[in-house]
Amino acid sequence: MPARSTDSLLQIEESLHSSLKKGHHSASLSDRLISANKRILLQHIEFRPAAATSSAQLEKLKSKYASINPSTSLTDHVKPSKGMSPFNPPSASDLAHDDDLPDPKVVLYPPEKVKLQWPAVRRIGAGLTNLGNTCFLNSVLQCLTYTPPLVNYLSSSEHAHTCKQVGFCMVCELQRHFRRCYENGGQAIKPHAILQKIKLIAKHMHWGRQEDAHEFLRYVIDAMQKSCLNGNTKLDRISKETTVINQIFGGFLRSQVVCLKCKAKSNTYDPFLDISVDVKNVPNIQKAFEKFVQPEQLDLDNAYNCTKCKQKVAAQKRFTIHKPSNVLTIQLKRYGVMGGKVTRHISFPEKLNIRPYMSVSQGAAITYQLYAVLVHMGHSTNSGHYYCYVRSSNQAWYCMNDSMVQQTSQGRVLNSEAYMLFYIRCDAAANHEQPKVCPFHV
Ligand SMILES: [Zn+2]
Ligand SMILES: [Zn+2]
Repeated sequence: MPARSTDSLLQIEESLHSSLKKGHHSASLSDRLISANKRILLQHIEFRPAAATSSAQLEKLKSKYASINPSTSLTDHVKPSKGMSPFNPPSASDLAHDDDLPDPKVVLYPPEKVKLQWPAVRRIGAGLTNLGNTCFLNSVLQCLTYTPPLVNYLSSSEHAHTCKQVGFCMVCELQRHFRRCYENGGQAIKPHAILQKIKLIAKHMHWGRQEDAHEFLRYVIDAMQKSCLNGNTKLDRISKETTVINQIFGGFLRSQVVCLKCKAKSNTYDPFLDISVDVKNVPNIQKAFEKFVQPEQLDLDNAYNCTKCKQKVAAQKRFTIHKPSNVLTIQLKRYGVMGGKVTRHISFPEKLNIRPYMSVSQGAAITYQLYAVLVHMGHSTNSGHYYCYVRSSNQAWYCMNDSMVQQTSQGRVLNSEAYMLFYIRCDAAANHEQPKVCPFHV
């Protein structure tokens, strides 16, 4: 205790003693005590830091109380899940600094309900008549018609029973289309119904004009996703990614930035419904994925603003597949922004293991089997001709070229000039990796 406080206490003691000795009036005693007390209370007291802390005492206190404002160094690991209630979407920064992908608060479609295999062998379906530059649409529809989990889902009346869409619904539309295809095997049908709604699927697309098949597929999947949200637009970002469409086609990518100065890591997770890979100067799809996960240097004009270093620093950014999808759709970026096309054959395997391109690259193989290949012939995506190869439920390959349906060999499929590849997960762990959360019935 500082010396001056001790002096004041002595003064009080002295005043008390002298008052009692000299037989002063009690009022006088109280006045003198008040003034002595004031001297203590109004004086400036200096504290010195202790030479050593009592760690045992501190540990005891730590176990007794919960910290309400932990230091910033802990927040990367122990982040309270604020803003994660279904009706309070998280901010981007909430997700960016979490150490792992947050679980959805609400699951719209339970992942374990997704059926990846054909329940029975079906006859190959119908061909699709070209209604004037509609081969892009025909090829995309044919690839979807042989996507087992999507067909399995639409074979049941599950969607029809819960559909709340007024007017156009992409899922209902596709369900009708699939039924017509499978009921008319050996013939060609006209995909009029979908073509008439092309502007509702993608408002900039026109009937009669050749469009980019990959772009059209994106719009079809997005339109289905919108139908499956069934008005649940106020859900948080992660919960919105749990519709049947996400459970079939969707996964998560992780973008990790590592500050080269302080080594701090910042993770951002983004949902994907397909993956576009650069195929310039690569011989095969595996090399394209290696390129996809290759770290990128952020420096100079592109320097990273590190929140820990509080300055622009050199950093390394790397994409990895964080949560694999059940169906993996890959677009081969054959077309440059400035024109030009990679026309070389880029080989792709019948079985693809994506484990090396995952955030956790060690572990059991994550294997996919090829089930459809979309081919483009021509110089740009808006011209030329599209057709596709699909694997039917009896495992035989068919070439679907507009109205023509012809059985073919796997060798021919693997030698094709692919623009899009469709793989389906086939390892034993498929369907067991998604978080198990009670379904939210809507
Ligand atoms: Zn519907
Ligand atoms: Zn840093």
